[in-house]
Amino acid sequence: MQLTDDIKYLKGIGPKKAAQLARLGIRTAYDLLTYFPRAYEDQSVLTPFGELQPGTQATTAGTIMSVQERTGGRQRRMTILTATLGDGTGFLQVTWFNQKYLKQKLKPGLRLFVTGKVEYAYGGYGQLAMAQVSSWQILGADDAPEQKTGIVPIYPATEQLNQHFFRKETQQLLADLAPLPDVIPASIAQSYHLLPRDTAFRQLHYPPNFETLKAARRTLAFEELYLIQCGLLLLKKQAREQQHGIRHLENSRLVAAVLTALPFQLTHDQQQVWQEIVHDMQSPEPMRRLVQGDVGSGKTVIAMLALVKTVENGYQGALMAPTEILAAQHYESFQQQLTPLGIHVGFLSGRLTKKQREAIYAQLAAHELDIVIGTHALIQDDVHFARLGLVVTDEQHRFGIGQRAALEQKGAPTDQAATNASPEADACQSQPAVRATATPDVLVMTATPIPRTLTLTVYGDLDVSQIKELPPGRQPIRTFVRTPDCRPLIYKYVHDQLAAGRQAYVVCPRIELTEGSDLPSAEEVFDELRYGIFHDQQVGLVHGKMKASEKEAVMQAFYANKIQLLVATTVIEVGVNVPNASLMVIEHAERFGLAQLHQLRGRIGRGPYKSYCILVSEGKSETARERLQIMAETNDGFKLAEEDLRLRGPGQFFGQLQHGLPDLKIADVLGDMDILLEARQAALATLASRETLPQIIPILRQQYHEHFEHITNN
Ligand code: ADP
Ligand code: MG
Repeated sequence: MQLTDDIKYLKGIGPKKAAQLARLGIRTAYDLLTYFPRAYEDQSVLTPFGELQPGTQATTAGTIMSVQERTGGRQRRMTILTATLGDGTGFLQVTWFNQKYLKQKLKPGLRLFVTGKVEYAYGGYGQLAMAQVSSWQILGADDAPEQKTGIVPIYPATEQLNQHFFRKETQQLLADLAPLPDVIPASIAQSYHLLPRDTAFRQLHYPPNFETLKAARRTLAFEELYLIQCGLLLLKKQAREQQHGIRHLENSRLVAAVLTALPFQLTHDQQQVWQEIVHDMQSPEPMRRLVQGDVGSGKTVIAMLALVKTVENGYQGALMAPTEILAAQHYESFQQQLTPLGIHVGFLSGRLTKKQREAIYAQLAAHELDIVIGTHALIQDDVHFARLGLVVTDEQHRFGIGQRAALEQKGAPTDQAATNASPEADACQSQPAVRATATPDVLVMTATPIPRTLTLTVYGDLDVSQIKELPPGRQPIRTFVRTPDCRPLIYKYVHDQLAAGRQAYVVCPRIELTEGSDLPSAEEVFDELRYGIFHDQQVGLVHGKMKASEKEAVMQAFYANKIQLLVATTVIEVGVNVPNASLMVIEHAERFGLAQLHQLRGRIGRGPYKSYCILVSEGKSETARERLQIMAETNDGFKLAEEDLRLRGPGQFFGQLQHGLPDLKIADVLGDMDILLEARQAALATLASRETLPQIIPILRQQYHEHFEHITNN
């Protein structure tokens, strides 16, 4: 069997199982191979019944004394089988739910080997029981239990696909699979004491002991981080080596005009970042810079200045935003500020008609547009620039590395561009002597607060600038945590504020009513509010399942104050700017991560009004309350990110970040910090060596094609 083979060819997997596996994202042999155990059970030590401790996980063996069957649960539909085992030192009740067929198998006198959680038996006067059996086996007369035991994997099983199934199929897979060749160059594997790849995979599933398990895990985590670091460093190296970056000239009339026309002074941090960008743009190497700044820190104006600088130098600029709404908003504000200066700004999104899109393509190719703002539509094959000088991606964490790279590629020469890019076609005065096909500069903006230690590795191919301070005069957002019984009071207050002319957001964790969930949906809350206390106001609803054009229309109406109260899901998290909105109520706030709550909260406090964010939560657990209370105490996105990490662990934290990196299957960027640093060292060494570099490129293409397809061979 090969890694790329469809999983349905594995013995024991029919069409039904294949479909269930597909729902977990498992389609090929490789997918199953990388469906790693979430934990392991040490079944190598048998505990006699007399020594079992309630509350612990244990492996033990005994003889079946009796078996009882009864029914339970709602309407008595559940069958409960209980076997009482004895081993000479005591007794243990073992219970199975809804596995009626087991009754045939579990005959008194048989020896049983079981692993699970030990508890006091229900109503059993101190007798011990095992109600959550994680694995069990009937032992033959000659089987010494010791021969059956060892370290056993525990997979993330589901209702249909249980532990037993995964254990059987991974064993089958490992038996059928041809030995896996190594991907890490031998010299690197040797210096970092890695196991052969084939051994590592096998032992990660079925380790002979915990020491080998650790080595196997380290090897595979290393491989994963190493390949991603190689990819990021290669992208950086490739851009650096392209000798024909653009050497922009000193700032001149247009940049000065934009700066003077701004209704505010740049903050100290903005000035600093702008200087860094100016320096990069004026150097002959292509710029590759990430600007990290909290929500509302004023990144857009920085992007605008950089785009104007490239236009001043006779180039075109592109700004890509992750949502239609945000792109449209940028377009509007750019047009307002730049059209009076004679700069031609265009808009491109999937929502335009074919004819409108083609008109924009033609204008870009003919250099009739200086700046284009848009969505993913900008990376379509049909988009060609006459003379692309700068590419900006806003809210980078919403894009993958591959998408960003695709936009950068737009600067590469095309026949069309070459014929159109005569200096006469340029709108602006200064003409630096650079080829029209120079590599564009790249600027990436993100509000995702990543703890400082990680920035280097997560954005390994970029230089980093940070905007830490917010513009002066901001009314700090005040945040309160309230229980649901306060809702009438909260909404009364919101109502009063709307009557005074303000606008408000209400955020809900889910869109529709789902069976078996008591979470209020956005749709329910929407109805409750518009027919209830807000019947005299315009109430709107926006969520991710609406069509882009519908979303857009609602957002526009909110922006124009035709809607005063907007009920929404997290679709509003990115970038929209409605300064008159000064209130936000977040229902079931415990459902969101802190970093996400902070992003959401960033939608208010954008105007001169005192702004309030009210987190509504039952707050049943101590940690849930502690977590939300932090929101009330700080407005610092970095601090919140760090707290989030501390409280929820890296898995959840990174799961929500959408940082554009490939999903890590095994490594954990925080927990494996030491491996990550080693992997980065190794990646640097790999790139520096003429021997290892060519080995690694095809592997990157193959394993991470989506992210690193733009890496070239030389
Ligand atoms: P973000 O960093 O979240 O993208 P924006 O660029 O949207 O933030 O800026 C938020 C608001 O702050 C905008 O209304 C913008 O005009 C304003 N702003 C930006 N810089 C300054 C400044 N130096 N002084 C005052 N207001 C500013
Ligand atoms: Mg922004």
